[in-house]
Amino acid sequence: MEKKTFRCVECNEVATELHRDYRNGILKITICDSCHKPVDKYIEYDPVIILIDAILCKTQAFGHILFNTSLNIHWKLCVFCLLCEAYLRWSELHSSEQSSDPADLIRYTKEWEFYGMFGLAALELSAFCGGVLLFLWVWVARLQGGTVEASLLLRALLLSCYGKVLLIPVVIWEHDYSLLCLSLIKLFVLTSNSQAVRVILNCSRRLSLVAVCLGLLSESVTAQACKRLPWSFQDTWMF
Ligand SMILES: [Zn+2]
Repeated sequence: MEKKTFRCVECNEVATELHRDYRNGILKITICDSCHKPVDKYIEYDPVIILIDAILCKTQAFGHILFNTSLNIHWKLCVFCLLCEAYLRWSELHSSEQSSDPADLIRYTKEWEFYGMFGLAALELSAFCGGVLLFLWVWVARLQGGTVEASLLLRALLLSCYGKVLLIPVVIWEHDYSLLCLSLIKLFVLTSNSQAVRVILNCSRRLSLVAVCLGLLSESVTAQACKRLPWSFQDTWMF
């Protein structure tokens, strides 16, 4: 059986263990051979503290989640975020048709437009991830001779999109600042994506920002192309 390897959250060096069990309840956190700091200080932390540090986009917290945990919810999170996004777009589509009649609400739930919006959101997310992965594969693997683990990067990109769940409160508490909130959520998600790429590849901030910007460009081109299709039914959206 292959032995699981970990990474130091401070210097990204490979480690074989996060803590050592000396029995009788004595546990000692492993110190990194390279930077002489704890390999992963977050194993002692409360999940809430880890979440706060991840929200603050700290690379150490990202390193802990991406390398040293077996958090395997990226696909579920991805579907949930896509549902949030589809709901936002779908509700925008019907925002002009103000109606409080419950019968209308039931009728809307039957409409295929929601599934269409879900498909479009999924297509744009695929374009974003594809753009980022393609650029990193060309730049890091082909030009610099490095290695790019696509599955690891994809998991990092999907997990770092967790900020999209904030779309739900924006839709529920509809107010005058919705557009500003959506822009801030987008900025937050892109910053998280950039930090995730930086942690996985241990690369410079500039390279991760360029990768995310190219992913965004790919997503925008796909969105515009879909908008021009003759059977397109959407008007405007943010994501
Ligand atoms: Zn280290």
